[in-house]
Amino acid sequence: MFHPNEKGFYGAYGGAYIPEMLIPNIEELRGKYLRILESDSFQKTYHHLLSDYAGRPSPLFKAERMSQHYQTNIWLKREDLNHTGSHKLNNTIGQILLAKEMGRRRIIAETGAGQHGVATATVCALMGLECVVYMGQTDMERQAPNVARMRMLGAEVRPALSGNRTLKDATNEALRDWIAHPTDTFYLIGSVVGPHPYPDMVARLQAVISSEIKQQLKEKTGTELPDYVLACVGGGSNAAGSFYHFLEHPSVQLIGTEAAGMGVESGETAASMACGEKGIIHGSMTYLMQDGDGQITEPYSISAGLDYPGIGPLHAFLKDSHRATYLPVTDAEALDAALELTRLEGIIPALESAHALAALGKLRFKPTDQVVVTVSGRGDKDMKTYMEHFKLTEK
Ligand SMILES: *Cc1c(COP(=O)(O)O)cnc(C)c1O
Repeated sequence: MFHPNEKGFYGAYGGAYIPEMLIPNIEELRGKYLRILESDSFQKTYHHLLSDYAGRPSPLFKAERMSQHYQTNIWLKREDLNHTGSHKLNNTIGQILLAKEMGRRRIIAETGAGQHGVATATVCALMGLECVVYMGQTDMERQAPNVARMRMLGAEVRPALSGNRTLKDATNEALRDWIAHPTDTFYLIGSVVGPHPYPDMVARLQAVISSEIKQQLKEKTGTELPDYVLACVGGGSNAAGSFYHFLEHPSVQLIGTEAAGMGVESGETAASMACGEKGIIHGSMTYLMQDGDGQITEPYSISAGLDYPGIGPLHAFLKDSHRATYLPVTDAEALDAALELTRLEGIIPALESAHALAALGKLRFKPTDQVVVTVSGRGDKDMKTYMEHFKLTEK
């Protein structure tokens, strides 16, 4: 019931709203992706690279001091320990293998904060494929270290110069490129967004997170079903992967957190569930933030990875069907949660992941509950923000 139908709809959400010129590309991918993903040869290479290249399985760590603080049992799923520092590599490894299987030589991607661009440039270097990453010029200036990483990895980073010169504009450029190069190019999307089959494909590639959680929790506690799973939601890929194998088990409460920025009433927010309405973005029907004229509004969050005006269609459906709950978390709450995890467990999380941790303070747990929080990435890239907010340079 949580899989999309053959047209890519989860209830009213999803689908493939694309220009006519892209229909052959999307149709080819739709016709091939499941067969390739489920083939023995794909599974063998994918799992080999996940283990020996990405470093999986990522640990499920019992956070003892944090558990004591919240009077429950808190487990951290350590996606921050993957190569390149987040869950994003799970997806790019899978899609690069798919692209190779489909005979594509050239990879394009768009990136906002640069994390997906780096994960894409990484697998292109690994496979020796040409890589072009579109990035808004404003983002290129804000995320200069990731631009340098992509270039060192051999990718060409092309600035998007239209609009606000951020993620949305980079997406438009990538789609234009794909239309111009329909036969030799693979468009590697970084979250559970975009036209069908991308949301389903990316969810399947990130599902390794919940498959490992099940097995690891069983080994450590004797039961494979936690009481809660918490994850942050930008486009929604780490959350989709963390929820995936628990969707059919209603006893597991699924909690997603979205970036409220300065607050859901402030106008300075990226909380597309709390503030958005139904509309089409990036080729699919979902919740998105728009003004009275249906123009997509510019999102804001302290966390570049959550700074997206839409949300994957699976999450829109999980929200409407009440299978998952989505909580808004402000910049200030996320910063507090980042410092708390750091001081209690010695783990500096990414600002995105701190949004998931902040939900701990908003829920009431029983002492017997098993609570899993996905730490989607590490905080190295956010040290500049942490230094400013926690005044780490003063003494
Ligand atoms: C990109 C990113 C996210 C947000 O993307 P999702 O598709 O929602 O998972 C969250 N955390 C980290 C560390 C990221 O790099």
